Parts: sequence; C-alpha cells; structure tokens
Amino acid sequence: MHLLPQTNRLRSLHTVIRDRDASRADFVQTSAQIFRQLLDTALDLLPVVPAPVRTPVGQTYHGLRPAAPVCGVSIARAGESMESELRAMLPQTRIGKILIQRDRTTKLPHLHYAALPPDIATSQVLLLDPMLATGGTALAALGLLREYGVFEEDVVFVSLLSSPEGISAVHARYPRVRIVTSAIEERLNADAYMVPGIGDFGDRYFGTDQPR
Ligand code: URA
Repeated sequence: MHLLPQTNRLRSLHTVIRDRDASRADFVQTSAQIFRQLLDTALDLLPVVPAPVRTPVGQTYHGLRPAAPVCGVSIARAGESMESELRAMLPQTRIGKILIQRDRTTKLPHLHYAALPPDIATSQVLLLDPMLATGGTALAALGLLREYGVFEEDVVFVSLLSSPEGISAVHARYPRVRIVTSAIEERLNADAYMVPGIGDFGDRYFGTDQPR
C-alpha cells in the first residue's frame, strides 16, 4: 500500500475537489494535478535497468530506463479521466480499456468490453480507477488481467481515493498488487459512497450531474 505523503500541497488540492461547490473546471484541473503525483509514484515502483548516456560534455550519466514496457489500463468510465495525464507523462505508453458494470439483478460486476494489447502479459500494468470503493470492479478487472496472463506483482492499481473495505478486498485476493492512492477514506456509506469522500467522481468529472 502506497499512500502519497499527506503534504499541505496535496491536502490543498483535495480541499478543492472535495468541496461540493467546486466548479467542474476546478475539479478537472485539480484532479489532474493529483493524478500526476499518483502516476509519478506508481511509475517509481516499476523495475528499471541501467541506461548509461553520453552527456553533451562527453561524460557518462548512469541513467535508468523501465525494464519492461508500461501499459495503462483504464476502468471506464472514471478511469478514463487519468489517461491524458499518463499519455502526457509517457507518450509511447499503450492504454487499454475495460468496461465493467454491476448487473442490476445479480449485483455482480459484469464485463461489457475490454480492449487490451495482446502481449500485455509482458508489460508492467498501471490499472487506473480514481475510486477504489467496494473493490468489486477492481477484482473483476484484476481477474481479467489474470486471464490475459498478467501476474499480480506486475500490476499497480492507481486510485485517487480508496476505502479500507476496497483495499482489504483487493489484498485478500491479490496480496501482491500494489495500490497507490492519495487518500484512505474512513469507510463506505450505505450507498457504497466513500466518506468523507468526493461524491460521484465520474459525474463530477464529466459533468453528467448537472443540467446544461
Ligand atoms: N464511486 C464514486 O464515484 N464515488 C465513491 O465514493 C464511490 C464509488
């Protein structure tokens, strides 16, 4: 479990997005700044190999580069909000997508759509979903990655907010999946929203909670 340091800067960013009266522009722009911090931390967990380079003054800089290709996988819809920051940071990164929704009758997560690179098993995977709430969707996504041959130790789950329930659910089934988050909330409420929370992330980010 990798919780971002609770710096004053990070808490100031959280103050903007947790405010129920935040404008959508502020919400989107401020979320992006936290995504950067999360993705930096996640990328720092991935294995590297030596990559020496010659500097313009003829010296060797003993650099590093990722040991394996990095693949982002966003869990639609909310996870799509994290794609642009990842693309800005690593333009060559491939980004897969998974759409999982809870079946209204069975209440079980149902996979509707997946587009993943065929060789994803040889990548380091950043699984993107800003909300780790019950963990049901995360478990379904991790199960699908397993079917594609991805090992749990090659997955970093990147979330903005995480609940204790969601973290426990993921680690009970996949103890070696690393989770990077910027806040661990108190709990879930009866409607499976995190508290103190942020409300419905997707609605606030994409504006679907508002009339025109
Ligand atoms: N999804 C959200 O958007 N918010 C929560 O608090 C939980 C799940």
